[in-house]
Amino acid sequence: MAEAKILIKGYAKKENDAEFASSTTTLIREGELNIIVDPGMDRKQLLEALKSENLPLKDINYVILTHYHLDHTLLAGIFENAKVLDNSGIYSWNGKIGEHDGKVPGTNIEIIKTPGHDMFHCSILVKTKEYGCIAIVGDVFWWRDNQDQITDKENLIKHEDPYVKNREDLMNSRKEILEVADYIIPGHGKMFKVEK
Ligand SMILES: [Zn+2]
Repeated sequence: MAEAKILIKGYAKKENDAEFASSTTTLIREGELNIIVDPGMDRKQLLEALKSENLPLKDINYVILTHYHLDHTLLAGIFENAKVLDNSGIYSWNGKIGEHDGKVPGTNIEIIKTPGHDMFHCSILVKTKEYGCIAIVGDVFWWRDNQDQITDKENLIKHEDPYVKNREDLMNSRKEILEVADYIIPGHGKMFKVEK
């Protein structure tokens, strides 16, 4: 069994006419492996969060990127030993590009394709003891800091995404996630339970 823990709750807000955003960053541990989903772009917060976990940068084995927007990916390069995974590939520091089979190598952590917000978007499914299946979904679901978080399924599926690439794909990805997940960790905002 794996464990998933939110290291940084993602935000998206305006302050003094400037835009601030950084994604939710999640730490998954399974066996000996430490995995970061979406390192975000807030360096200070990330370094502080890792420090409070007693996790040096070199101990991170994998970084998974849900999609390529910089508010989720900017800090991917600071983990000197981590391989980086996206919806299909595994990228190594020697320039090697390989493919994964829908799982983080050596684990039962699933990486599923969830297009819509972005063409190459993926989500991560983690089976945990405490919460059942946690889906870490990047921007399949996200909220601005001043928006109310929705929990009913119908409105979750329809929720407006100002940056959507393909709305039909996004709605299908959302339906799939709501089917399989017990809890959802959104790209910006806090974890919520799926009403069954
Ligand atoms: Zn985002």
